[in-house]
Amino acid sequence: MRVSQSVARTFQTLCNASARQQLQQCSNRRCSVQAARKKTVSETPIIGTSLPPTIQLGDSPQQSPFYETPEIIINETRIQEQTMAARRSEVRSKIREIEERTGKIPLVDSFARVHNYLRISLTETCNFSCSYCMPAGGVDGHSKSDLMTNEEIIVLARVFARRGINKIRLTGGEPTLRKDLHKLIAELKKIDGIDDIGITTNGLILGRQLDQLKAAGLDKINISLDTLIPRRFEQMTKVFGFEKVFKAIDATEAAYGRVKVNVVVIRGFNTDELTSFVHATKNRNWDVRFIEFMPFGGNDFKDDKFVGYSEQLEIIRKDFGNQIVRLQDSPNDTSKAYKIIGHRGQFGFISSMSDNFCSTCNRVRLTANGNLKVCLHSNAEVSLVDALRRGGTERNVEEIIEKALWKKKAEHAGLEMLPHMENRPMVLIGG
Ligand code: SF4
Repeated sequence: MRVSQSVARTFQTLCNASARQQLQQCSNRRCSVQAARKKTVSETPIIGTSLPPTIQLGDSPQQSPFYETPEIIINETRIQEQTMAARRSEVRSKIREIEERTGKIPLVDSFARVHNYLRISLTETCNFSCSYCMPAGGVDGHSKSDLMTNEEIIVLARVFARRGINKIRLTGGEPTLRKDLHKLIAELKKIDGIDDIGITTNGLILGRQLDQLKAAGLDKINISLDTLIPRRFEQMTKVFGFEKVFKAIDATEAAYGRVKVNVVVIRGFNTDELTSFVHATKNRNWDVRFIEFMPFGGNDFKDDKFVGYSEQLEIIRKDFGNQIVRLQDSPNDTSKAYKIIGHRGQFGFISSMSDNFCSTCNRVRLTANGNLKVCLHSNAEVSLVDALRRGGTERNVEEIIEKALWKKKAEHAGLEMLPHMENRPMVLIGG
């Protein structure tokens, strides 16, 4: 298929499938039209939605069950039409430019954001019970048969890779609890186009797997450690494991040369340790990432526990003053990177709530039960695994991904709204 034809087909299918949806979105966060509509836009989850077995998605938009007639735009204002036209044109040229350069039709949403990063949750279970992640009463996970098999993960990863995903991060629950994790990594690594595989782990049982995972091709490891005080660690995780995790961080640094250490900052729990973490970067090649506390289903988020990144930076400034240097961030970095002059490691802030990075978002997520989640903070989901299990082709799956991505919002709903919106508990998403 010639480039221009394939771009046109992909683009037209997307446009027709969700014209109404797009008119409910606006890239201008202060847009009053959007604000008024936000109140009426349904956030209905589509968990488990899959193609009915009798419906085949065809090449023509009119054959699609998602097709909506163009009349719906007639009553929309001229400004909205112009905005949409400009966005469509931007998307079209971005798809064309990338396809000509790479030979792949990229996953582009209606805000022209190109998605090349897939986060895959491998399990819904965890050996910790951190209050910001696991609801107090635990979670009702899916049955084992609902969760993706290794084979299904590989098929889906291959579909994403064909559409330009080149970076995968394995999450959970706790991903190191997944049986034969190293075998899965080795298989993912063989997929054409995947050149970076990372994992985010709590580190408790990482030590005994580290060599095997590295040999399988694991490129990067992020380890969560919210406190440097063993007693607090036990209070947060409900597990006696501080030493094991600390050793795993050291072992990872030794094996990989550096390690990312994730710290969720919670007022009343660890704000007095921010400078200790920064001191730890003096002789260790740690990249400490201070993550703003985020509201998720059933977690213990409260406004007064939230500490924005500028306040975190001020706390650190009190100790380090003008020794702090701002580093250059890469285009899709979620962290604002800093360093103390003379320190081996660095630190940064993931300001998801107070200064979000949605405008450069390049990520999508697969939950352990095979649902695609195009945004961490939206409860809209669509099952990719159901489509496979009902005999759908890989092309069917691609079309489901395209349509879901096209509905991705410009940004999350913000700190005022999110605590009141439904979403999965973090342990069932993977962060
Ligand atoms: S909130 Fe959603 S849009 Fe924003 S960065 Fe996260 S996943 Fe992307």
